[in-house]
Order: sequence, then C-alpha cells, then structure tokens
Amino acid sequence: MPRRIEGEVVRLQCRSCASIFHAFTFSGDTDMVTGDLAFATRVDSAELALAEAPSADRLDEDDGAREALEARIADALGRPGFRAPRLLRFEEPPPPPDPAQWQHYRAAKVVYQCIACPTGEAVEITRLSVRAFVRSSGRINLLGDLVLDQAGG
Ligand SMILES: [Zn+2]
Repeated sequence: MPRRIEGEVVRLQCRSCASIFHAFTFSGDTDMVTGDLAFATRVDSAELALAEAPSADRLDEDDGAREALEARIADALGRPGFRAPRLLRFEEPPPPPDPAQWQHYRAAKVVYQCIACPTGEAVEITRLSVRAFVRSSGRINLLGDLVLDQAGG
C-alpha cells in the first residue's frame, strides 16, 4: 500500500568548496510518522532520493548505516553517487540590527557535513516546496511505495 509523505527541500551550500546540494526535511505530526524516512542527494545534479530506512534515526552517528543506505539507493536506481549527508547542527541566525524585527519568526538554519569535500560545512541557503524544486528542474526519486504529496508552493 502506498505511503504518502510530505516535506520540503533545503538548498545547501558548502562554506569551503561552494558546492551546492539538497536536503529533504520530512514533515509529520509526530516523530513516529517520519522517524524511519531518510534521504540521499548528490552534487552533480539537483536531485534527491527518498527512502524508508529502519536506521534513519541514527544516520548522523553511524557511518555504516549511511553507507548501507547509499548502496541501497544506488542499487534501486541503478546509479551510484547518491550520498546521505550527516546533519551537524542547527544554527541560530544572528540577531537583527533593528529590535523591532524580533517579532518576526526567525528559523534556525540546518548545517550538514559537505558531501563534496572532506571537512566543509554546508549551510542552508534557501527552502523550497517540493513543487518549486521540481519546477526549477529538481528531481526527486522515490524508493519503494512512497508517494510524495506535492500540495502547496
Ligand atoms: Zn565542500
């Protein structure tokens, strides 16, 4: 039975090598909904692969789990080169010069380990709806029975 998922695309750029790649933030009402979902991405095209992964909750600490996911995605798509980046932290934006702007919600930016260079950190530069990502020539590969909800944006 198909499983409907939703979320948004985060465009990242490495502070060291300037490579651009994408992350996917799954959204759901509780962790139970998205806790077994994972993504992989690549630097040579605006592309993501989304998959169910029992190890999704320990990918950031477990190199072996990331490599296994990357191998499974390469196998399923018949193409190597997808990488599961490691989430390093969330970064608070600097305070605005004008205190009146505090009333606006300022979301923390995600920082991932770069997948193109050994020590670089890739920081969020923008967020896109799935629809906007696909419209800008992005591509999302779905593994298994996943179906992506493209509502909004
Ligand atoms: Zn880099």
